[in-house]
Amino acid sequence: MSKLKAKQIQSVRGMHDILPEEQKYWRYIQKKIEHLLEYYGFERISTPVLESVDLFNRAVGETSDIISKEIYTLRTKGGDMLALRPEGTAPVARAYLENGMNVRPHPVKLYYIDPMFRHNEPQAGRYRQFYQLGLETIGDASEAVDAEMIFIAYKLLDSLGLDGYDVHINSIGDQNCRPVYIKALKDYFRNRSKKLCANCKNRLKENVLRILDCKEEDCKETAKEAPQMMDFLDDSCRLHFKHVLEFLDEAKVPYILDPYLVRGLDYYTRTVFELIPNDQATAGLGQQSTLIAGGRYDRLIEQLGGAKTPAAGWAMGIERIILAMKEKNVHVPESGPKPKVFLVQLGEAPKRKALPLFESFRKAGIEAKSSLGRDSIKSQLRIAHRLGVRFALIFGQKEALDGTIILREMDTGVQETILLERIVDEVKKRLKDKPIGAPSSDKEYEEESAK
Ligand code: ATP
Ligand code: MG
Repeated sequence: MSKLKAKQIQSVRGMHDILPEEQKYWRYIQKKIEHLLEYYGFERISTPVLESVDLFNRAVGETSDIISKEIYTLRTKGGDMLALRPEGTAPVARAYLENGMNVRPHPVKLYYIDPMFRHNEPQAGRYRQFYQLGLETIGDASEAVDAEMIFIAYKLLDSLGLDGYDVHINSIGDQNCRPVYIKALKDYFRNRSKKLCANCKNRLKENVLRILDCKEEDCKETAKEAPQMMDFLDDSCRLHFKHVLEFLDEAKVPYILDPYLVRGLDYYTRTVFELIPNDQATAGLGQQSTLIAGGRYDRLIEQLGGAKTPAAGWAMGIERIILAMKEKNVHVPESGPKPKVFLVQLGEAPKRKALPLFESFRKAGIEAKSSLGRDSIKSQLRIAHRLGVRFALIFGQKEALDGTIILREMDTGVQETILLERIVDEVKKRLKDKPIGAPSSDKEYEEESAK
């Protein structure tokens, strides 16, 4: 009787494996991030994947898409309602309060690189698990902070080889001036409610500002003549916004005033911005072409039970960054140092002795590779060739008995028999006499990634 093949289990819809060949992007981006952010005084923070669902209800807003439609929740055996974190700012604000970071010198500047979870419709650039880099500057209301955050976002894209992005910027005012605007917006859309999608009909009741963030063409069309927040800003919000723009002018960051830019989350006040490609080629992702989005959130910490604490932040989708880098053919160095040595092992005795030899190269800081499974010298030399190593070390039965090894220069094919105990020093010496192409060491890789 033939055995039935077991049915394969698939990954969860909208969630992906990141395969070895993709890792070079992740490693490269992480290096760039660390280099830039640590220079600007940000420290990394990591928060748990699971949080109490109340945190997001309170911070992001129960009527937001993220909470009303997209959040993953689970009930524990103990009966607690938990959520897989859909965004990083609320958890960071919670951690800031819970760990007494409010007594540290301000502003407190933090960043995170973590997976987020949203149950939305998967498509290119939109997944159910995705990674975000996020930055938060907590405890400073000044315009300089808004401008610095935007400046860093712009420079980060630049350092990743992604030029051609504009900062779209707007101010959504604060609790003093926004209510008047909301009322005007409500009047406007109420007269046109027939043209709105079902979601936006709801938004009209619950959170009219979000209609401006709708991705449906009809709603976008309907919103075209809507009142603009700019005309409703009170004096202090207007001045704040004006100063942010002056800072950006000074820093030569190109921006586009976008009167209908709002954010999908409740906690924003005053400045909001997104980094969007300015050419149609990279705009291929359509709605998914925004790489970075953020703004000021002066009320969040207070909403979570802390003292009144102004703050600003942004988040960047790492998968979208990788898509954009591929689209632009950005060169990314291969992960890690290039191997210099390939150990060819022929037969049982050499294989047994090979492991300590291999380890002594690691200790000496010389990158070596080998292939335990293959027996023929031809196939092993082929791999050595493909890896582009400078030396092959040929270790056969005879050499294992004699305590020697054959050192072959791959370029010329010239071979020499060397005492086993001297081989590491000999390789070291030859590498020093005639170094090979960069990047060939960890240090050089780091330098290349840091530019
Ligand atoms: P959108 O308007 O696209 O629904 P958003 O405005 O809610 O998203 P934010 O929460 O501000 O997005 O997220 C900031 C960044 O994180 C986005 O600009 C994007 O790069 C990335 N991002 C957001 N959601 C996803 C997702 N589902 N998959 C991949 N990346 C995402
Ligand atoms: Mg958005």
